[in-house]
Amino acid sequence: MLIKPKFRDFICVTAHPEGCKKNVDMQIEYIKENKVSSKFKRILIIGASTGYGLSSRIVSTFGWGASTIGVIFDRQGTDSKTGTAGWYNTAAFEKSAIKDKHYAKTINGDAFSNKIKEKTIELIKKDLKKVDLVIYSIASPRRKHPITGEVSYSVLKPIGEPFKNKSVDFHTFEVFDTEIGPATKDEIQQTINVMGGEDWSIWIDQLLKADVLEQGACTIAYSYIGPEITYPIYRSGTIGVAKEDLENSSLDINLKLKQIGGNAYISVNKALVTQSSSAIPVVPLYISLLDKVMKEKGLDEDATKQIHRLFSQFDEGKMNIDSSGRIRIDDREMREDVQKEIKKLWQEVTTDNVEKITNINVFREDFFKLFGFGYDDVDYEKETCAKVEIFNLL
Ligand code: NAD
Repeated sequence: MLIKPKFRDFICVTAHPEGCKKNVDMQIEYIKENKVSSKFKRILIIGASTGYGLSSRIVSTFGWGASTIGVIFDRQGTDSKTGTAGWYNTAAFEKSAIKDKHYAKTINGDAFSNKIKEKTIELIKKDLKKVDLVIYSIASPRRKHPITGEVSYSVLKPIGEPFKNKSVDFHTFEVFDTEIGPATKDEIQQTINVMGGEDWSIWIDQLLKADVLEQGACTIAYSYIGPEITYPIYRSGTIGVAKEDLENSSLDINLKLKQIGGNAYISVNKALVTQSSSAIPVVPLYISLLDKVMKEKGLDEDATKQIHRLFSQFDEGKMNIDSSGRIRIDDREMREDVQKEIKKLWQEVTTDNVEKITNINVFREDFFKLFGFGYDDVDYEKETCAKVEIFNLL
């Protein structure tokens, strides 16, 4: 079939297998040229098909030859419908991993469910015996509770007051004022249910109970803080409260892991164009400015480079830890000079100058690339088979 980008609201509902492969291959190439070493050899990555989870899988496999099990929630293509970008990314990743003789297997299904947790534990027991690192990198709009069956939906809303600020439509480049009403108590709770720490805790409890965590095993969950401009919609909003819950649960998990001499970490990462972040109002405009300012200062990093730096710091035992015990790999984004420049440009930005004073074009290109579109050396006019196999899928 001919595969073109198609949209529903903010979401691109098609993906191009060859373009997604290109995206993955470029990350692999970078890591092969910029090796990193690590003590973690058998890794479980929950949320491994796009964004930070995918980069974590690529960096650990090709950076130091780790064996990985990835848990993803993606859809395979058919003769008439494309699969998800995460499906194609995983197919491309596994193809290269197997070619280079690395162990890589993938479980596709709802990571929030007991069924997928049990399936993952069985696979660890059978193939790896134990894992020494668990990376938790889920971003999801909904979660079905494994015991009550209750379905919760996460919302991106401020708390207490309505939020008014500038935003941009990254398809038309129109800068406009947006107003988002405050979340209800129930919406706040539902967002915590989805994006808070309960599921991460359940994973670690079940892995411990099944005795599949190596002595000294660690776990890392990814979080975000960001600047004051986005506080009302991010850090002080519904998603921020959920992130606080995730961060607080690391303390509990840390205590539980003490019995095997392990540790739980939160890594606060940089803002990036991903499927999740492009859906947050105000954030695309902020990322467009961030990209411009960081590139001008020679500080820019994509997901692969962030994760590369995270594990380099781990290996050297020189993690940048803040007063709340979190690893701060977002230090370059949060630098005072970077944020001061963004604040200034934020006041000035309008529809007329958005292309000049921000990297909105880059944001849009990067967004399309997430779905495999916009690569010069992929022929989008050529008939392409949307049905692609993931070799080691369970
Ligand atoms: P993403 O949307 O690119 O990736 C999310 C992953 O979760 C995908 O692999 C998806 O398949 C998987 N997933 C979602 N629901 C699932 C389910 N029920 N079962 C199994 N897998 C499921 O997101 P991302 O931006 O890489 O975010 C990952 C983490 O990093 C999140 O915790 C996010 O808050 C954090 N983070 C993101 C940014 C950013 O700017 N994107 C910055 C800092 C931290």
